Amino acid sequence: MSTSFELPASFRLGFIGGGQLARMSAMQAFRFGIEVGAVCSESGSDPMEKVTPTIFRGDVSDYDTLMKLAEWANVITLENEFLDADVLAKVEQDSGTPVFPSPETFRLIENKRIEKETFRNAGIPVAPFRVVKSEEELPKTGMQLGWPYMLKSSKGGYDGYGNKKVSNFAQAEAGFRALGGTEGREVIAEKNVSFTRELAVMVARNEQGTVTYPCCETIQENHICTRVIVPAPVNRSIRDTCESLARKAAEAINGKGLFGFEFFLTEDDELLLNESAPRPHNSGHFSIEACSVSQFENHVRAVCGLPPVQPTMRFNAAVMVNLLGKSSGDAVLKLPDYGQNDEEIHVHAYGKTTARPGRKMGHLTVLGNNPDTVLKRALQAESDTRI
Ligand code: ATP
Ligand code: MG
Repeated sequence: MSTSFELPASFRLGFIGGGQLARMSAMQAFRFGIEVGAVCSESGSDPMEKVTPTIFRGDVSDYDTLMKLAEWANVITLENEFLDADVLAKVEQDSGTPVFPSPETFRLIENKRIEKETFRNAGIPVAPFRVVKSEEELPKTGMQLGWPYMLKSSKGGYDGYGNKKVSNFAQAEAGFRALGGTEGREVIAEKNVSFTRELAVMVARNEQGTVTYPCCETIQENHICTRVIVPAPVNRSIRDTCESLARKAAEAINGKGLFGFEFFLTEDDELLLNESAPRPHNSGHFSIEACSVSQFENHVRAVCGLPPVQPTMRFNAAVMVNLLGKSSGDAVLKLPDYGQNDEEIHVHAYGKTTARPGRKMGHLTVLGNNPDTVLKRALQAESDTRI
């Protein structure tokens, strides 16, 4: 008998960050009797605050705060990317508490340039890109990549905040400056991909195995993911290729934990890896109810050394809709009428007390066997839900 499934009842899992991703992973950890702690912000209103009393208040990249978490926990894991690989490595070394995904893995993806080089070297296609060292290089870059192109800060972007699509020299100059290029921050230029769809695949991986979630389509508005459609409405062979590229990408970074990989599907049905996330991802939320094992359970499993479980779909189709804040103020949840239908509706609120326009306040997932009906019900449920 393998002993690898054993977990001491006193096991403690620490999260660097207290957002909804940590909270949904924590809720799976509780099912295994695991105790959970988190680094939370001074605001006192992070989603994790409502699910555990074990809070370490401070910044997610602050060494002293992370050391407190590491001294408390058996394993620590990530839920966002506003971290520093050097600090993570030092905390791991000084505390002796393992960090998964490892600081070495994180180092490969914390910087978009290194991330793209790593995947390209592993034979995974990415969009053409180059580093822009100075404003003088901006027109030449336009000649090489074509106009418009994307400027991206190598570090620190999220929900499109580190990106600028530029159509002419004046815009490129302004974008380069806004991204800190003139102050020495590394900026890359990337070919603007005219994609037909954006696809994503979640992978859970540790020394005991690698599993992948079904390839889904993600739909973004204003750079924020608004909907996820599962399975992605593309040929089976494209989904299979996407899943195997994601698996290869997780291997390329020697990933231990849970990873999200986002792809562009081009007009020629080519797949380009856009970016990766070393944590649960919005494109995997559907798995909570749609799959036999959710991304959050596999996150906990992968970082705690339990074998990841290959998920299967419980229904033919799922649509996940993000519930975004519509205005600023106190959050109030208004649930939709679930009705008497073949589809299932599941609503999640993250416990954020204050809403802001575009803030991810919760999500809902609709499951069923007819993809068209599921999408229709999801859009209806979205308009009936307030948060
Ligand atoms: P997040 O972490 O939320 O995914 P991010 O700030 O790291 O966002 P990206 O994932 O690189 O940024 O880009 C966000 C979105 O911008 C993509 O999902 C895509 O819609 C668009 N985008 C990014 N790069 C390109 C590109 N090269 N060509 C066309 N569109 C792009
Ligand atoms: Mg992205």
